[in-house]
Amino acid sequence: MTHRVVVLGGGFAGLSAAKRLGKSQLDVIVIDQHNFHTFQPLLYQVATAGLEPADAAYPIRSVFRQSQNISFRHGRVTQICPDDRIVVLTDGSELYYDFLIVATGAAAAFHGIPGASSHTSALYTLADARRLRNRLLSTLESVDSHPESWNGGAPVFVVIGGGPTGVEIAGAIVELLDVSVHHDRLRIDRERTRVILVDALGRLLSGFDERASQYAESTLASRGIEVRLRTAVAEVSQDAVALSDGETISPAVVVWAGGMTVAGTLAAQLPAEAGPGQRVVVAPDLSLPGHPEIFVVGDASAVPRGAARMTASPTDGTAAGDVPSSKQLCPQLAQVAIQSGEHAASQVLNRVAGLSTQPFAYHDKGMMATIGRRAAITQLPNGMVIRGTMGWFGWLGLHLVYLIGFRNRLKVLINWWWRYLDWPSGPRLIVADVEVDRDGTAEVA
Ligand SMILES: Cc1cc2nc3c(=O)[nH]c(=O)nc-3n(C[C@H](O)[C@H](O)[C@H](O)COP(=O)(O)OP(=O)(O)OC[C@H]3O[C@@H](n4cnc5c(N)ncnc54)[C@H](O)[C@@H]3O)c2cc1C
Repeated sequence: MTHRVVVLGGGFAGLSAAKRLGKSQLDVIVIDQHNFHTFQPLLYQVATAGLEPADAAYPIRSVFRQSQNISFRHGRVTQICPDDRIVVLTDGSELYYDFLIVATGAAAAFHGIPGASSHTSALYTLADARRLRNRLLSTLESVDSHPESWNGGAPVFVVIGGGPTGVEIAGAIVELLDVSVHHDRLRIDRERTRVILVDALGRLLSGFDERASQYAESTLASRGIEVRLRTAVAEVSQDAVALSDGETISPAVVVWAGGMTVAGTLAAQLPAEAGPGQRVVVAPDLSLPGHPEIFVVGDASAVPRGAARMTASPTDGTAAGDVPSSKQLCPQLAQVAIQSGEHAASQVLNRVAGLSTQPFAYHDKGMMATIGRRAAITQLPNGMVIRGTMGWFGWLGLHLVYLIGFRNRLKVLINWWWRYLDWPSGPRLIVADVEVDRDGTAEVA
């Protein structure tokens, strides 16, 4: 009898798992609430009108057009029933599985800060990016029309969180402001307009080497961004951000880039321990302890770094069965999602073939963050940090390689070069009926 593998999620992890199972004898069903794969690393460019939403997404059906044993089901899964081996969708339908690969990602973490979830714009999905873009562009138009409502034409933009997403979006907002003033001739007091990046930690890009943090801070400062480190956000309301140092800012737009959590997502239902960021604690082969037929991968999973990491930190002192510390886990990156998805699929094939499973080991290919045009950081696995234009070209090249589908790659490459050479004429369209005033935004899609 053909075994059925259900893959939950068509992100990097789910797609790489399903691809690994292509051409096998297994019946593979990929389920996602969106009918497209979202390329999250490009969302900040969609949000700041550098790329179109379609440049950062790709239809999942197209990915598996040639794969006879893989089908796609568009729908949201509401329940996983491990004892019955079924998943339940919002329309009530149930799907049986022999093996389940859970790759449902994470969601924005607001850390219980009052008002943060309702009064900030998070950036995790394509819909988030589109909403933020409409909000930014509508705000700029409103400043032009009613400067008296916006501090005399000088709005304030606040980005909360100094990780890669926060750094990227702060840099891109400044570029958007410049082009809006110099090319679109919006009447904005550019000199007094502020972009503030806030982080509770003592440095930006804390997951990177210290040199990368310094470069990010000085580059952002040279572009006019106020970097406020060691500053936590105490509360966000409709028209104010209260900081831990007592200051209250009255921002036009607040972007949330303050981290991720698995709490509240589908994977949180699984009968397992929760690790840092509520990620699902898995066995070394990425299966769910007690359920060898279920694997959890990508952002949803507390993916262990694997053998290489464990021997490198023998003083860590974690006994088998303990909840791992952040240092023992892989970061929530596309490469980790891709590698863990492939690994889980290989273990399914092992099990079907009657072989034992293998532990996962992460092959670190480095990390990247971009700060703006011709300014990026690439940190190689050996610790070497490449900055500036070279880092930016590295970022461009790598993201192109990971983009799914040849047509998508070509389109994004052309768009990027066009944007680089002719940046001012970018697609700054407000594609929704949006009204922005100091009392908030009403958006009708
Ligand atoms: C703004 C941003 C920028 C980033 N930049 C970088 C970068 O530059 N480099 C890098 O390496 N990483 C980057 N990352 C991280 C990287 O994108 C993630 O690590 C990666 O996408 C995780 O892949 P995943 O498959 O685990 O989850 P996701 O890509 O989040 O995919 C999860 C999928 O599951 C689906 N899903 C969720 N719940 C359900 C449900 N109940 N029913 C049906 N479907 C469901 C979702 O629709 C989604 O398609 C970035 C992330 C963000 C948010």
